[in-house]
Amino acid sequence: MRKTDLQRFRKLLMEEKERVMHSMADHHKVIRGLDGQEGGATGKAHSNHLADQGTDEFQYEATIQFASTEGRYLYHIEEALSRVEDGSYGKCEGCAGHIALPRLRAVPHARLCIECKEKEEEGTL
Ligand SMILES: [Zn+2]
Repeated sequence: MRKTDLQRFRKLLMEEKERVMHSMADHHKVIRGLDGQEGGATGKAHSNHLADQGTDEFQYEATIQFASTEGRYLYHIEEALSRVEDGSYGKCEGCAGHIALPRLRAVPHARLCIECKEKEEEGTL
């Protein structure tokens, strides 16, 4: 892969990492119940969330779910960044061939080429 392409993907991954981390931080506040409740009565008075108990519980479940999905995604982004650093970024882990650039643009943390990805999904890799 050309150095200019590599730098572009590195930037893309860094931005994506930043975005996911911010998104996770927001969700962590909900998970830890810091959504205006920590300050007791005073905090509650300033809270915009006056949702009923049922809604809160639903949001809690959805948040946990979302946070673990995001966590896995973040892990993949970090793995991709370390491949950028060690120079193996863009190389397929299945067949050691090059992952096509359009695929990397669509999925910057991809570690398999399209062919190997399909095999993996079929369970034949
Ligand atoms: Zn491959």
